[in-house]
Amino acid sequence: MSEQTTHTNQNVALVTGANKGIGHAVAQQLAARGMTVLIGARDAQRGEDAAAAMRAARGDVHAVTLDVTDPTAVQAAARQVEQRFGHLDVLINNAGITGSGQVSPQDAYDQAPSTVDLDMVRAVFETNVFGVIAVTNAMLPLLRRSPAPRIVNVSSHAASLTLTSDPDGPFATLLPSAAYNPSKSALSALTVQYANELRKDSVLVNAVAPGYVDTDSNNHTGHLTPAQGAAVVVRLATIGADGPTAGFFSADGPLPW
Ligand code: NAP
Repeated sequence: MSEQTTHTNQNVALVTGANKGIGHAVAQQLAARGMTVLIGARDAQRGEDAAAAMRAARGDVHAVTLDVTDPTAVQAAARQVEQRFGHLDVLINNAGITGSGQVSPQDAYDQAPSTVDLDMVRAVFETNVFGVIAVTNAMLPLLRRSPAPRIVNVSSHAASLTLTSDPDGPFATLLPSAAYNPSKSALSALTVQYANELRKDSVLVNAVAPGYVDTDSNNHTGHLTPAQGAAVVVRLATIGADGPTAGFFSADGPLPW
């Protein structure tokens, strides 16, 4: 993103991890609604490539280099947004990793709680949880300048303690995980705590589960397209002042925590 200052009344949205997958589709849909969209990408070139492709499709889209686990990069990104736009209306905390999430050839699952590598758990929490706090706190001063600030945390059905603790429920086949699933449950808790703190400031904060989406993160085994998964994210990013806060939603409606 250039340093050129264009403080604007235009609605500005930042999507972390938007160079591919669900975040990319969210960015496309927000741009199609006329928002100025900032593609957060930890790799500058991947971010520029994604932004250029969206500009070619006539969106007002810019890349911001942003590794959510790098405090210096997070602060630099906030400064760039401040200098260029002066405010932020929508923050989508989408960047996330599974840590692995794969079943090995020996059929041993590397996130099984009893055998998990603690360094992997730390790495997953660093991105999926601590990264969200870092980015949110860096962007909050800019969000507070918006007349209608919205924060959407991209979570997962796997975050739901209610759904995953039901041995007869539709998620009973999910493999036990000490990394990804708890990181998303922690994201749920954070969503509620931020929503509670920011309610008085009319910042609406919600978590969404996009469903099982065809992306690199699951080796393209998902049955939804990124555009389908993105739709609920965009819906919560664009709710009106009477919309929910401290909620958890899928495309089908509210989800239990
Ligand atoms: P994806 O295609 O792998 O995209 C993940 C994005 O996050 C990529 O842009 C990746 O950047 C970025 N990222 C990873 N670590 C980052 C970091 N430290 N800083 C900044 N960006 C980082 O995965 P996805 O399926 O679209 O996942 C997006 C979100 O949806 C995640 O939070 C995921 O947990 C959630 N989700 C996905 C599904 C699903 O079925 N796909 C279901 C439920 C929830 P690089 O390109 O540089 O790696």
